[in-house]
Amino acid sequence: MEKFPWWNEAQKALADEVDAFSDEITPKAQELVWKREFPWEIIREVGKRGWFGAVIPEEYGGKKSEWGYTGCCIILEYLSRAGIAVACPYLLTMCGGTHQIEDFSPPEKKEEWLPRIARGELLGAVGLTEPYVGSDAASVETVARREGDEYVISGKKRFITSGLSADIYVVYARTSDDPKDIAKYRHITAFIVERGTEGFHVEKVNELIGFDNLYNAYLDLDEVRVPVENRLGEEGDGWKVMMSGLNFERTMTAASMLGLMREALRYAVFHSERRIQFGQPTINIGVNQFKIADMVWIFNTARLLTYHAAHVLDLGGTAAAEAATAKMFTTEFGMKMFLDAVQVMGGDGVTRFYPVESYIRDTKIMQIAAGTNEIMKLIIFSQGLRALRKYIPPPVRKVHPELRVPITVAFGSLRDEEKRKVEGEEDVLRALAENYKVNPGLAMTLDDMKGVLAADDETLTRMLTALEEKKLVKTFKDKKGQIRLARITLEGLKKTLTLEECKWIPSWVLEKDVF
Ligand SMILES: Cc1cc2nc3c(=O)[nH]c(=O)nc-3n(C[C@H](O)[C@H](O)[C@H](O)COP(=O)(O)OP(=O)(O)OC[C@H]3O[C@@H](n4cnc5c(N)ncnc54)[C@H](O)[C@@H]3O)c2cc1C
Repeated sequence: MEKFPWWNEAQKALADEVDAFSDEITPKAQELVWKREFPWEIIREVGKRGWFGAVIPEEYGGKKSEWGYTGCCIILEYLSRAGIAVACPYLLTMCGGTHQIEDFSPPEKKEEWLPRIARGELLGAVGLTEPYVGSDAASVETVARREGDEYVISGKKRFITSGLSADIYVVYARTSDDPKDIAKYRHITAFIVERGTEGFHVEKVNELIGFDNLYNAYLDLDEVRVPVENRLGEEGDGWKVMMSGLNFERTMTAASMLGLMREALRYAVFHSERRIQFGQPTINIGVNQFKIADMVWIFNTARLLTYHAAHVLDLGGTAAAEAATAKMFTTEFGMKMFLDAVQVMGGDGVTRFYPVESYIRDTKIMQIAAGTNEIMKLIIFSQGLRALRKYIPPPVRKVHPELRVPITVAFGSLRDEEKRKVEGEEDVLRALAENYKVNPGLAMTLDDMKGVLAADDETLTRMLTALEEKKLVKTFKDKKGQIRLARITLEGLKKTLTLEECKWIPSWVLEKDVF
């Protein structure tokens, strides 16, 4: 369980190595939280060990073929044990430059930046959010205009993690106001802006609920000139660049929650095995055991979801729904886990003398950063459901001839030979009437109708339109005027079914009471 069976030997060795590193640096990392100092020394050491090269191809000095996205999550899981301030600069470098440069930069820029990132010489950050643009990321107001071989970028970015500690910033800017480009999400372009470029400054440093010794900043871009080669992809590719980065970022956010979870479990167990109340260690108390049991299943499930998303990324998938699910689960259930850990530890849990309380504060941020969990639900609803749909075709239900109750007889569609032939409108009306008997109150989609009728879309549309004109059917049309749903009207029912056919009175009902 600790090392998943699908990890390769290099990834398993990496896990041991980063875990041991975390043991070693924890005292320093905790000291730096108290001093509120950014962990420069530790991050430089991470760089020296080559871990920033996890998703960088070997030709640029990385170890992508051995470690990949799974390796990257392994590094984050074990690094975050030493605190979020150790994990985040790594996370932001991976999705704030590395990934995008590898996929979208011209070869000369890959050669310039990737080996330096792999050696830990360049840290990255993501500059997407703005004062007036949050969840609605497509509305970025920062603008970039082309002037010869340069782009000139102006705007403001906010909430930028590693805002003062990065060397390269992935900045998203609007390059078109053409409604046609906006409709196709082709109005945004992504750029690498380097620290020290004229006109690029820190405006404000945020004081946050958590992320105690991490920099989070407002950045000001005032006519910042970047060469065309700093553009990621083509002009208008910004949305594509953003999405690929965000899916990776969400997977890594989940991975960095795992280290906090492991430590919460460590401290809750450590504390409750040593704290005696009512003559026994508090871990003997049932409610504490239940809380610890919850922590265990949450942690184990969180790891599975996270490494599943990473595996999908390693296989070349987009992992949109998987990453959103992992991010949702680890931050929602992580919060429950940390609240429980604090509760198990009683008063000690809410002191800053144990790190557990800080996990609650950091997790509140994690529920908002990298896309809020409400946005994760929108993604899971659209993309997650889309992916599942083909495996959950709708039930086809029919009245059982003997029991006279609805029974599911097929999924998606009846076999062709079982379908009703459509010789006229009455066959379509009959299908809608039968649907009333098995799914009362529900309309039918055209696919539902094709599942029980031997007819194509065109025939059904024509007949439904004719039946609607006769007020026997009611349809629901989409914006393009296409019929999406149809149902029978009361008038249609009267014409098709007798009350006797609709009746269903269970045997326990007294006959004298039925009228
Ligand atoms: C500490 C921290 C670090 C961050 N780091 C970075 C970073 O490094 N780089 C970067 O670019 N950004 C960063 N962010 C920004 C982060 O991604 C945004 O805060 C987040 O996307 C939400 O935007 P918002 O804060 O403007 O909230 P809003 O978009 O204003 O949302 C307010 C509320 O409305 C809800 N909401 C909005 N739209 C919808 C909808 N359509 N359906 C349902 N609910 C909705 C949201 O879920 C939220 O609860 C960071 C944020 C924080 C707090």
